[in-house]
Amino acid sequence: MTSVWSRRIKAPIFAGVSVGSIVLTAIAVLAIFVGPVLLNNAFYMHILQQIAFYTIAAIGLNLLVGYQGQVSLGHGGLFAVGAYASALLATRLGMPVWVDFVLAAAIAGLVGALLALPTLRAKGPYLAMVTIAFSIVTFVVAQSWTDLTRGPEGIKNIPRPEWFGVRLSDVRTFRPLGEDGPQITGDVAYFWVVALVALAVQIFANNLLTGRWGRTINAVRQSEIASETVGVSVYRMKVGVFAVSAVLAGLSGALFAHQSGYIVSDTFTFNKSVELLVFVILGGARTLFGPVIGTTVLVILPEALKTLAAYSILPAAAQPFVEHYLLLYGALLILFLITMPNGMAGALRGVPGLARLLPPLRMPERRQVSTLASAELANGATRPALVADDIKMYFGGLKALDGVTLNVQPGKIHGLIGPNGSGKSTMVNVLTGVYRPTGGQVRLGETVMNNLSPHSVAALGVTRTFQNIQLFKDLSVLENVMMGFHLRMRYGFFEQMVRTGRYVREETEYRQRAMDLLAFLDIAHLAEVEAQSLPYGLQRLVEIARALALGPSVLILDEPAAGINASEIDQVSQVIRRVRDAGVTILVIEHHMDLVMGVSDHVAALDYGKRIAEGTPTEIQANARVIEAYLGDANMFVLPEAEDEAPAVAPATAAR
Ligand code: ADP
Ligand code: MG
Repeated sequence: MTSVWSRRIKAPIFAGVSVGSIVLTAIAVLAIFVGPVLLNNAFYMHILQQIAFYTIAAIGLNLLVGYQGQVSLGHGGLFAVGAYASALLATRLGMPVWVDFVLAAAIAGLVGALLALPTLRAKGPYLAMVTIAFSIVTFVVAQSWTDLTRGPEGIKNIPRPEWFGVRLSDVRTFRPLGEDGPQITGDVAYFWVVALVALAVQIFANNLLTGRWGRTINAVRQSEIASETVGVSVYRMKVGVFAVSAVLAGLSGALFAHQSGYIVSDTFTFNKSVELLVFVILGGARTLFGPVIGTTVLVILPEALKTLAAYSILPAAAQPFVEHYLLLYGALLILFLITMPNGMAGALRGVPGLARLLPPLRMPERRQVSTLASAELANGATRPALVADDIKMYFGGLKALDGVTLNVQPGKIHGLIGPNGSGKSTMVNVLTGVYRPTGGQVRLGETVMNNLSPHSVAALGVTRTFQNIQLFKDLSVLENVMMGFHLRMRYGFFEQMVRTGRYVREETEYRQRAMDLLAFLDIAHLAEVEAQSLPYGLQRLVEIARALALGPSVLILDEPAAGINASEIDQVSQVIRRVRDAGVTILVIEHHMDLVMGVSDHVAALDYGKRIAEGTPTEIQANARVIEAYLGDANMFVLPEAEDEAPAVAPATAAR
């Protein structure tokens, strides 16, 4: 297992930032300052400014659509909110433009949060629908509330900010380095402002995506229920990401308003929302540089086509096509979407050598794999009993659980068996806060857990695995386990943004602990493997490792043997005992008798939502009601495999 560690790439690190990122940033800063001086021409500046401020909105939208996995068709509306807010603050209230930018972004963020708060409570396509409606409503308001927005007539004379006492629009030229320095137009200076903000936003996004918060955003996209069981409040996370993307859309809109100096309602139709989404998708959703690539190409492309049309540069035969440049633009868009399913950034990654230019962030590593102390697992000395008292769970007329009592005593392995459909998974869902029971009480020690959400139950030290494995599929095995540490990590959002010492310390420390846990389950060699590429049995172990990372007092395993073969079942049995010996209380739900009977200290049996028996494994095996419930005869070890629920996320490698 040590070999994995020594084999891994070690990029030089400065305060958690790789040299590659520093060099890349330096190149970007240089390009921002030198580029426009070379291209000093009002038309080019206009285009560069557009690229810069649209990139800001696109980066925010990529966080939402790409990484978080929620589609918004309302960001054009939020862009409009930012533009109008900033324009009105400047023209009506005469506030300093720098302050307007900040306030406009905050207002858009607030509007975004208000939009997300009720919408994200619901599941399904509501967000897309509500955001479409929002886009349209914003346009209608901009169009018809003429007292405020002046509608199609527009708000004029929106000032640019001042820099060193010079307003960036009033003067045509100014000298940033004093009277002897080079002469720069106000347009170039404004581009510098917008582009530096865009660069800051790009760095912000990159930092956001490496570390605890980025892992969480990715995790929520891949499995909401699993995110909850490691203690993430999925709802708060989704609203938060939506608000962040709204702030960036608003900032983008504000920078636009002060660039053009005048805004009209016609700019903010539903098309704006679609346009922003196309920047992201075409550039490459869920890639770091997709938004800037997509925005650059799609801002330049129509301008270039327009220019070709205007100057009749092409041969006469091509002219008719070019004259209808919008049609051509549309055709090119469709072509791009078909040929580059992962966007342009995705296509670029395929170019040999290019991927290596953009090194991922690596944290410093300790080389040694320490042995896992039992203390790591047993979270504190107190190990309360988990009690389910007279639980009823009705789905309409169906009594999935009808007065079931379970008493899970600390430090033991408890089995819960029963035929398919007897209510086992329902019990797990009640115990972990996924379902609110119709009647009865769930207690952990003295704490009543009935009305807690899954992430609060996790925070109390009760966690679980799933009958249909719920891993964060695109994340590595190590990152999956790191997600389990979510509640134990202390560094906050802003600490991650600026990469404080605590951020670096905790990331390093918990990486080590994750490796320790993987070593404890004999899968340390798989740390860097993408979770979904593992066979089913190993995925189970990863799921258990992630659950153990919480330092749970109770671990509930829902059918750990479902869909895995005999030798893997042996491995899982061993792991279950090892975890119990480390001090964790275990409730194992099964339907495969051999596994439960082999490991359990105590077993309860369910049938049709009622507890029909409890006792030692030997007593249960001899119990007439259990035998009857299972097969109607004494041969209860021959179980009908066909009735197993199909695993929802079984990878191809596990198909058998
Ligand atoms: P087991 O895990 O023992 O195979 P389950 O707990 O999954 O059984 O299911 C018990 C019964 O409850 C089944 O009849 C199932 O169809 C029903 N059930 C479970 N969850 C729901 C739900 N969310 N809505 C309606 N019925 C459900
Ligand atoms: Mg089940």
